[in-house]
Amino acid sequence: MLTKTKIYLSSPHMGGSEQKFVNEAFDTNWIAPLGPNVDGFEADIQNYLGNDSHVAVLSSGTAAIHLALQLLGVSKGDEVLCQSFTFSASANPIIYQGATPVFIDSESDTWNMSPELLEIAIIDRIEKNKKPKAIIAVHLYGMPYKAKQINAIAKKYDIPVVEDSAEALGSSYYNTACGTLSDIGILSFNGNKIITTSGGGALVTHHLELKNQAVFLATQARDNAPHYEHSSVGFNYRMSNVLAGIGRGQMEVLDKHVDARRANYNFYKTHLSNHSSISFLEEPEGFYSNRWLTCITTNSFELREAIRLNLLKEDIESRPLWKPMHMQPVFKDCLHFTDGTSETLFNKGLCLPSGSNLSQDDLNRILDIILKTPNL
Ligand SMILES: *Cc1c(COP(=O)(O)O)cnc(C)c1O
Repeated sequence: MLTKTKIYLSSPHMGGSEQKFVNEAFDTNWIAPLGPNVDGFEADIQNYLGNDSHVAVLSSGTAAIHLALQLLGVSKGDEVLCQSFTFSASANPIIYQGATPVFIDSESDTWNMSPELLEIAIIDRIEKNKKPKAIIAVHLYGMPYKAKQINAIAKKYDIPVVEDSAEALGSSYYNTACGTLSDIGILSFNGNKIITTSGGGALVTHHLELKNQAVFLATQARDNAPHYEHSSVGFNYRMSNVLAGIGRGQMEVLDKHVDARRANYNFYKTHLSNHSSISFLEEPEGFYSNRWLTCITTNSFELREAIRLNLLKEDIESRPLWKPMHMQPVFKDCLHFTDGTSETLFNKGLCLPSGSNLSQDDLNRILDIILKTPNL
């Protein structure tokens, strides 16, 4: 019997020249967290993002968020406002700093941080003498958040924004690259992201001085002296030159990956949007999503589960939308400003297989199974 292969939600997709760059690292013995691939990968990302960006490549996106908070002076007892509808790595670094997260719900146009709830939260915290030290907003699933509104509020109250662009490399907002829309942006190159170095991340800033400070902290904060002198606490967060070689190869195919993922979205939408029980997240005017994952919302928890379980039976991976942070056991005592938007998305939404390496046969197989769901 012919066994069908497993279809993953989002799997690594090599372009071809990654190994050449990795081999160069071996041939020149740059097996270290610095070297020509690190410099080359940073230059490639800067060229791609434009908008006067300076990039420091790091060991992970989580490390990048941690460094961003450190650079912004977030410390013990501070409060940080964070989008609730996200992956836990957006919020965990707040705890690493001894600070307290306050979670903000999403609006329904982009599923990202609600500007209205953000301002309500800021006013409340200022009234209680707890002015937030930073805002962490997320371009979830590659869809840009409402940056104009979020930035205006941040400016009004003079609070810096960390832009979690881990899922949004290749997305843009009114033709400006996601990752460059705020004070500090972060990227991720984890195995399931739109490009991968197996594990890795980057910090993005408009200020060279801030990039240099990030690199300094990421390489153990060694002062300029012949011996080892330290006047601040550092981290070991720099990216390996071997992995940066994978990144250089991946940058050559990033645009192709975006095109492929957007084509996945269009395929699903074309064949499913005539079913009134299923809806898709549309791009507002000026918003361009890399469609990292194609997400649907259904009209009930039961239908979502029926689709998910039918796919699972056929060895096809799909996944409920992120469980909001304010509903997570680990953050159960945290303050939150919510209106049910992300909770509903979590209950009724599903991420469909979205890799840039899915074949037409894969897509047809997935669609076939979804269409067989009773009561669709
Ligand atoms: C993946 C991800 C991160 C963390 O990136 P890592 O490189 O896995 O540490 C942070 N935020 C969001 C929204 C992510 O999806």
